[in-house]
Amino acid sequence: PAAAGASGVGKSSIPGVKRIIAVASGKGGVGKSTVSANLAVALAQSGAKVGLCDCDLYGPSVAQMFGTNERPMANEHDEIIPIEAHGLKLMSMGFLLEDRSPVIVRGPMATRYTQQFLRQVAWGDLDYLVLDLPPGTGDIQLTIVQTVSVDGSVIVTTPQEVALIDARKAVSMFAKVNVPILGLIENMAWFEGDDGKKYPIFGKDGGVREAEALRVPLLGQIPIDMPTGQRGDAGAPVALVSPEENKVSAAFHQIAAG
Ligand code: ADP
Repeated sequence: PAAAGASGVGKSSIPGVKRIIAVASGKGGVGKSTVSANLAVALAQSGAKVGLCDCDLYGPSVAQMFGTNERPMANEHDEIIPIEAHGLKLMSMGFLLEDRSPVIVRGPMATRYTQQFLRQVAWGDLDYLVLDLPPGTGDIQLTIVQTVSVDGSVIVTTPQEVALIDARKAVSMFAKVNVPILGLIENMAWFEGDDGKKYPIFGKDGGVREAEALRVPLLGQIPIDMPTGQRGDAGAPVALVSPEENKVSAAFHQIAAG
């Protein structure tokens, strides 16, 4: 029921999972999945046990970003056993599809799938379960935060006004359902040219100003970076690269440490 989430009643934690972190964005294409994947990898590299649940049924990207097309099996309790890659436990609609055909399900089914991902996956003991939410602030996002007790949310935006407007909506959605907001990440903050200059392609410090205006912490600024995009496509997130060698990796490791 809609009222249950707002009061916190009816939410459950996931047995064995210490902290659930939701990564959200108002708008699609701002790098939410890239941030989820890299934060999860950075947390795992710091020694934590980490799971990543791709809650985007209609545009799953975790299979691609982790370079695996394995199919999950069920255990004797009829729970789905998550796929393991790069030291993380993963679940995504992408693992369940025969081919890359689109998922065609209406709202109630989508809700059921989403709940199944949270409740019927054998996540085991985890320090962190990172939820890569679908973009937007609709039914599915509400279902998720009302199904499980989310300890904190991270909101991803680009510096562009169109993205900031929607990031604002995401912040207010989490505030309404009493999910603590850990902070904002400004992705695609600039591009650093060979000349060492920073070019703010999508505008300068939009996320910084927005975080101030909303009074939420700014967790970091992530530049546009070719290895970040390429490694995402190639199934080996940039946070696997040594932080000394790549600034984006360094930024994710710093955010994960904080
Ligand atoms: P969303 O989950 O918000 O839809 P994605 O994480 O799928 O966004 O990112 C959209 C595209 O932009 C992907 O191709 C991704 O590799 C790329 N991308 C995201 N962040 C960066 C970045 N900081 N530098 C370069 N490419 C990026």
